[in-house]
Amino acid sequence: MGSLFDFDLELFIGAGAYICGEETALINSIEGKRGEPRSKPPFTCACGLNNKPTVVNNAETISNVPWIINNGGDKYSTIGLKDSPGTKLFCVDGSVKHPGIYEEPIGTSIGELIFNAGGGMLTGTEFWFAQVGGSSGHLILQGLLDEQPQYGKDPKVSMGSGAVLVIDKNQDIKKLLLSWIRFFQRESCGKCVPCREGTFRLKAIIERLNNGNFGQNDKDDLHKLIWTLDNTTLCSLGKFSVTALQDVIKYKLLKDIL
Ligand code: SF4
Repeated sequence: MGSLFDFDLELFIGAGAYICGEETALINSIEGKRGEPRSKPPFTCACGLNNKPTVVNNAETISNVPWIINNGGDKYSTIGLKDSPGTKLFCVDGSVKHPGIYEEPIGTSIGELIFNAGGGMLTGTEFWFAQVGGSSGHLILQGLLDEQPQYGKDPKVSMGSGAVLVIDKNQDIKKLLLSWIRFFQRESCGKCVPCREGTFRLKAIIERLNNGNFGQNDKDDLHKLIWTLDNTTLCSLGKFSVTALQDVIKYKLLKDIL
């Protein structure tokens, strides 16, 4: 673009670990180490890749840069919400007619994503809830469908990954719980005990819940494990492993575990 600035672009191919979405685990992996989060501080802006100051952004964020250079930041800020400007790639999936990835302005409500972009519920199914933001996201019931996923501190519904998984009333909540905890147990990097042991033990309890062998001890342990994972893990993966389970309890979606 007429400037004398020049730079090299180097591409690293990771093995696809979920935890490498955490920036320090990603940096470790690029350095050839295990993909495990580092204790913070120091933060990556001061000490990141090869101990140098590092900016970490994902490909979706960087893909906005050409448009901003061509059209200006002020114009970009007119799209979306004041505190969360721009567009977002929303992945609408589950019991909808047209699952897919849709680019929409931030500020699009969950209901609009499901019933406009996603084409509404599959024929013969009835909306139960949506999980917004990925496997670590909260469960959104009918009354919250007008909410707009966004960034920032403590929004009512966090954007997370932008995924909207739609669940209908025919789905088996016990199987969903098992699917969520199996995912987190498999993806736990194992660096800290509460997550390494906690997700493993929680999975065993949810398996017993599915097999009809869930007892009072399991119920007591379940609540202790939820607290431990929510409050004591090194990174957010451990905490997020129980977000959906906490919402299942909060909204009384499964009376066996109350
Ligand atoms: S919370 Fe889980 S993923 Fe995060 S550091 Fe601990 S073991 Fe690893």
